[in-house]
Amino acid sequence: MPRGRLSGKNAIITGAAGGIGLQTTILFLREGASVLMTDVSEPALAKGVATAKELAPHMTGKVETMKCDVSKETDVQAMVEHLDDWGGVDVMFNNAGIMHGQDDDAISTPEKIWDLTQSINVKGVWFGCKHAVLSLRKHKKQRGSIINTASVVALVGSATPQLAYTASKGAVLAMTRELAIVHAKEDFRFNSLCPAPLNTPLLQDWLGDDQAKRHRREVHFPGGRFGEAIELAQAVVFLASDEASFVNGTDFVVDGGMTKAYVTPE
Ligand code: NAD
Repeated sequence: MPRGRLSGKNAIITGAAGGIGLQTTILFLREGASVLMTDVSEPALAKGVATAKELAPHMTGKVETMKCDVSKETDVQAMVEHLDDWGGVDVMFNNAGIMHGQDDDAISTPEKIWDLTQSINVKGVWFGCKHAVLSLRKHKKQRGSIINTASVVALVGSATPQLAYTASKGAVLAMTRELAIVHAKEDFRFNSLCPAPLNTPLLQDWLGDDQAKRHRREVHFPGGRFGEAIELAQAVVFLASDEASFVNGTDFVVDGGMTKAYVTPE
């Protein structure tokens, strides 16, 4: 069997039961990685790992699950140290994130929603980066790849307000960029992933059957459609692999051209 693009690599994926996380788990397994799927939801993880095993039947690595709330450092430390028995982490995908239904504009966003959003979306990514670096050093890795999920709203202002979320994703971009520079000499690469609105539960549950709300977003896509989680996962495979050995500190945008477009309704 040909070696996969991630053959021999140990990966951790947070938010692995969700849209992007699950698709990335499946592609990582198909490319030869071993994957620790983690999420705050244990039932969702149980379902997710069953799907992953079904869709990556020829995996050469292993897949395990572990509950982890990324906003709690003790959880994140335990998650990363779980890989000590595997030989340490090579790829860390800090992907867990929330967009809360009460997130709104400067006037209406409740402070507790602001704090909750920052604690998962920003502090959770920091904890993931911190413990990934500690593991890479402990296991004397010659290289490592850390990918942090941001969003296109970190690059362009959203007319539909979600201020806490937008601020959190801007923080992910800035933090990732600095980490990329600080750790470049160790060959620990840090890149941000910037997805456009996608067909995943995070957004689609929120849009529901509201066609007007849906159309207001779809109209911004030159191709007229939301992205699919697997289209993000393909980018994550590249960033995780040694093919991306000179890709560091990027805001890796996967958006169907949305942030480069000037589109008006037909
Ligand atoms: P999703 O809701 O399908 O998945 C997110 C997962 O994170 C869920 O399984 C959830 O249980 C988990 N999670 C939530 N809080 C957590 C916590 N405290 N600790 C650990 N896990 C937790 O969403 P998705 O679309 O797959 O989102 C993945 C990432 O992509 C998020 O960071 C999100 O902000 C980002 N993103 C999504 C979109 C989109 O339109 N879906 C667009 C841009 C960016």
